[in-house]
Amino acid sequence: MQLTLTQKRAIWLSWLFIVPFGIWFTHQFYPPRISGLQWELAGFLLLTAAVAAMPMIINNTPIFLIQWVSLAVFLTFGLFAEMAMMQAAVVVLLMRIRIRKDELFRLPLNSLMFFLVSFLAGLIYYEIGGLQGADLVNEPKSLLLTVIYAGSYFTLNQVVLTFILYLLYGRDHSFFGKDFIWEAVTSLITFPIGLLLYVLYQQMGMLALLFVGVPFASLSIILNLYYSSEKINDYLQKATEIGHQLAEQLHVEEVLDLFIKRLTGMLPVDYAYILEVVDEDELRLIRRFENGNMESKNIRPLKKNEGISGHVWSTRKTALFNSRKEWKKYSQGYLPQQAESVLSVPIVRNNKVTGILVLASQRKRAFEKAQLMITDILCSHLGIAVENAKHFEETKEQSERCALTKLYNYRYFDQLLRDEFEKLHEFKRNILSLIILDIDHFKMVNDTYGHQSGNEILIELAARLTSLVGQQGTVARYGGEEFVILLPDKEKEEVLELAELVRQMIANRPFIVKQNIDSDRKKMMVRITASIGVATAPQEAEDPLSLIRHADRALYVGAKRAGRNRVAEYVK
Ligand code: GH3
Ligand code: MG
Ligand code: MG
Repeated sequence: MQLTLTQKRAIWLSWLFIVPFGIWFTHQFYPPRISGLQWELAGFLLLTAAVAAMPMIINNTPIFLIQWVSLAVFLTFGLFAEMAMMQAAVVVLLMRIRIRKDELFRLPLNSLMFFLVSFLAGLIYYEIGGLQGADLVNEPKSLLLTVIYAGSYFTLNQVVLTFILYLLYGRDHSFFGKDFIWEAVTSLITFPIGLLLYVLYQQMGMLALLFVGVPFASLSIILNLYYSSEKINDYLQKATEIGHQLAEQLHVEEVLDLFIKRLTGMLPVDYAYILEVVDEDELRLIRRFENGNMESKNIRPLKKNEGISGHVWSTRKTALFNSRKEWKKYSQGYLPQQAESVLSVPIVRNNKVTGILVLASQRKRAFEKAQLMITDILCSHLGIAVENAKHFEETKEQSERCALTKLYNYRYFDQLLRDEFEKLHEFKRNILSLIILDIDHFKMVNDTYGHQSGNEILIELAARLTSLVGQQGTVARYGGEEFVILLPDKEKEEVLELAELVRQMIANRPFIVKQNIDSDRKKMMVRITASIGVATAPQEAEDPLSLIRHADRALYVGAKRAGRNRVAEYVK
């Protein structure tokens, strides 16, 4: 969710009007009594900074359990000290999670929120008679007031958060949602620790910071380790799943699209590029994903050692950059201005680099080691999936095409014809026409100029037919020197006109042959003609076989027998 410029300005202005004055006000009315305690305060400050710098990352959200320190500071040094400490914590905390330039508004926003909560909770505590330095061990009433303070702090935090979310995003942030439960649980855990720290500090002074701080920090580290291994497990599981999905794709384009989609959904990626190694000579961009969209791939290919990907290509090693400064010397300026972190991985197959993946983020230090490892695994899945898909496409192409003319072959035509009849029967097509063409006296052409020249004529004829028919229908080689054109949804008149055009295109323009039998192998012009038969379904044929038979009959009876070089339509 993006905030508008006006909203961001309003946040900065609200902060400016409320926070500096509020802090001054607090200092005037609740002056901190810290004379002689400066060192102690510094100790607490250090603890706060340490806690703020060690967030637990759970589901990509950093969690700071700072309330326990803040409670002890509040009870020991008073409202002003607590307030100042929380403000310092906000700065450390936001620096730690590395907000982007366009997210800077989060600084005043969080500062304002923490200020309001500290201020109001402190006010409540003092109003009900709470004191700085209260003796919780011997005075049950003080303990009760502290509990009330902690309760108000928690409630205010929820209310302010809900209110601000509502103001900014207009969203009905449910008061008792998941966040509420999480906050309540962490508050319940940290409140006793805060009390413990305070009481212990009163008894034994600074040593208390060690006694409470060290176990808490250890707990925080252990939880972090736990969650990061959880995260790696999660990544590995996803990588396996993506690998399976990639392997199921039959076409290269599908493999690439799926790869980009899944990868950008899993990692914090603003830009993703896949480059393909072409002829061992250059890198060509084949996928370009920027800010959620596939963009045009029209970028000059890169040579070895050129740019980040050219570098990764020649070193065959993964590259990880944390900020723009680190990669600037490699890049040719293709990466967007805002890109900071860059991760680039070679796609290796059979010990050969077949491509390069480049990922970038607008954040500094966006990619961790675990993500690099996962990307590497995914790239080897990608390499295999692309190779398999390429293989499938080639095999399919070979099984559907005639090797000589590169036209579709009989097998393909046969299936297409059946599919088209299916559509006809389902009323997805109204009419289906077939043109069959047989070259006249082709045996003689072979005998005169040689079989090789005959082949050259077939190749040229195939090219002429494809360019004449274009998108109107499908041209296929039916057999030796017989060709078919299948035309869906075309009126009979149009089909006959087209057939006539084909006839003229063959008869009026001689074919050039080079490989004739003469020893001197000069270029020669050969004139040929063809006979053509036309039939249409469903009027003249109800099934594929009869459509072919009827067109064939028109060809032999109507055209060949009537003298060749003519078009004939089927007559019953
Ligand atoms: P018409 O059709 O006018 O009756 O006479 P035709 O000589 O063309 O007779 P037909 O269609 O029966 O003959 C087919 C000839 O086409 C036989 C063969 O020599 C030639 N042919 C078939 N396939 C190929 C091919 O792939 N290459 C070459 N060069 N010739 C082929
Ligand atoms: Mg023939
Ligand atoms: Mg023939």
